Amino acid sequence: MTSPALTATVDLGAIAHNLDVLRTTSNAAVMAVVKADAYGHGAVPVARTALAAGAAELGVAHITEARALRAAGIDAPITAWLHTPAADFEGAVTDHIEIALSSSTQLDAVVAAARATGVAASVTVKVDTGLNRSGVAADEWDDFAVKIAKVHAEGAVTVRAVMCHLARGDEPDHPLNSEQAARLDAAAADLARLGAAPEIIHMANSPAALTRPDLARDMVRPGIALYGRTPVPERGDFGLIPAMTLSAQIALVKRVAAGEGVSYSQTWIAPHDTVVAVIPAGYADGVPRLLSGRLRVRIGDRLFGGVGRICMDQLVVDLGPDAAGVREGDEVELFGTGARGGLTAKDWADAIGTIDYEIVSQIGSRVVRRYVNASPARGDAVADE
Ligand SMILES: *Cc1c(COP(=O)(O)O)cnc(C)c1O
Repeated sequence: MTSPALTATVDLGAIAHNLDVLRTTSNAAVMAVVKADAYGHGAVPVARTALAAGAAELGVAHITEARALRAAGIDAPITAWLHTPAADFEGAVTDHIEIALSSSTQLDAVVAAARATGVAASVTVKVDTGLNRSGVAADEWDDFAVKIAKVHAEGAVTVRAVMCHLARGDEPDHPLNSEQAARLDAAAADLARLGAAPEIIHMANSPAALTRPDLARDMVRPGIALYGRTPVPERGDFGLIPAMTLSAQIALVKRVAAGEGVSYSQTWIAPHDTVVAVIPAGYADGVPRLLSGRLRVRIGDRLFGGVGRICMDQLVVDLGPDAAGVREGDEVELFGTGARGGLTAKDWADAIGTIDYEIVSQIGSRVVRRYVNASPARGDAVADE
């Protein structure tokens, strides 16, 4: 029987559990953010599980991501919020994708797409309330609001929602969070006054969904917490369960004599005769090269240190002089839930000065995704992935 060299096991039961935590903690509807292939977990199976577990809507960055979910047969509301001038607005309109608008130029393009296709566009107004990234800028707001109210009245476009994104959601008590909320509420009030009242207001990312239920308005928009990573570790883990475990099978076990160097540039020299294991996981798979010499992997209940450079496809761990009973084909956990002493994506991130968002979303396409704990009762359908 063959099995993959390198596997990202995604626990759909954990995703469903985390969705429930987010819904009950925020006391609001949930838009499950599944951009970037669901932070590396697989957009379609995660979307299906989140919806079956009670998510009201889905959120992605690009229209192409939203259309791929539609093509997979997902008919829930999907919002896409990041567009270039050449984005496929006509495809979005015909696929009933909720288009979040960041400028008058984008509004013009969506109106044109609605007229060309004969399908009214449902839009969300993305307001720049202080992040100074996407969203309608403050100095453009008044003109934008008048213009969108006009096309809303004409019927080409329906304003369904307003949203903004928090700059400091991971600092729950920072005053900017409440300021951004006040600016978003004011924008919604402007639109209402102009006859284009939005039905839905949303701004809360994972940290805000977990720590600031007062900002939830109608819906929260979590990503990382859905995948079981706490965005505010100093406030606890909220009972979230990490959904992804990265594991590999050992490709080779071999002796290395004292004084021999291992891997490129031989940055590690065996201090004594030892046995090493070659693991088929490298930086092309999302194991950061910066973890060279700092990685530890779990085999059974023991941890073994990585030695030498992490390469594109492989890395080496030192098993010690007696090989510790480890054999070729044995399973190695690279990161996971942290159970049995193993490392987590957060441990990797901390070691190299980044965030766990980057670790999980960088897991490469060569890594086979395996879905476990799908629930037929929940309606998860993964057999055809
Ligand atoms: C990525 C993203 C989110 C989710 O953020 P998390 O911190 O992962 O919860 C929400 N809203 C927007 C606009 C995003 O780009």
